[in-house]
Amino acid sequence: MKTRTWIIILSSVVIVCAILWMSILNSLSPSKIVGIYQDGNLVEKIDLNSVTYQREITLTGEFGKNTIYISNEHIEMKSAECPDKLCVKHGELKSGGTPIVCLPNRIVIQFEDDSKEADAKTGAVR
Ligand SMILES: [Zn+2]
Repeated sequence: MKTRTWIIILSSVVIVCAILWMSILNSLSPSKIVGIYQDGNLVEKIDLNSVTYQREITLTGEFGKNTIYISNEHIEMKSAECPDKLCVKHGELKSGGTPIVCLPNRIVIQFEDDSKEADAKTGAVR
């Protein structure tokens, strides 16, 4: 009977440790916060990790409409009515790297740097 109690205690400790470890790993994993800007103003900030369903945002600029596709995995300019369509050709944006820019419609889609945000909160300037 005593051995059994110990097994129960040990296994619950292991489970608790596993849960803690998972949550630590989760908090360490880089966040996927994407900012969508138009004319230099923030339109929307999305954490791709918390996106549970795929959706689209349509922005209208000087040269027509831009449709932005958002999923848990990536963000991309699905279609655009701008003349150069460079933003569409950019393809999927999955993590940091080159932001998607639509110059004609002045739209920028980029991954936000968390550390910069933390600095902004503390007011520290680098
Ligand atoms: Zn474009």
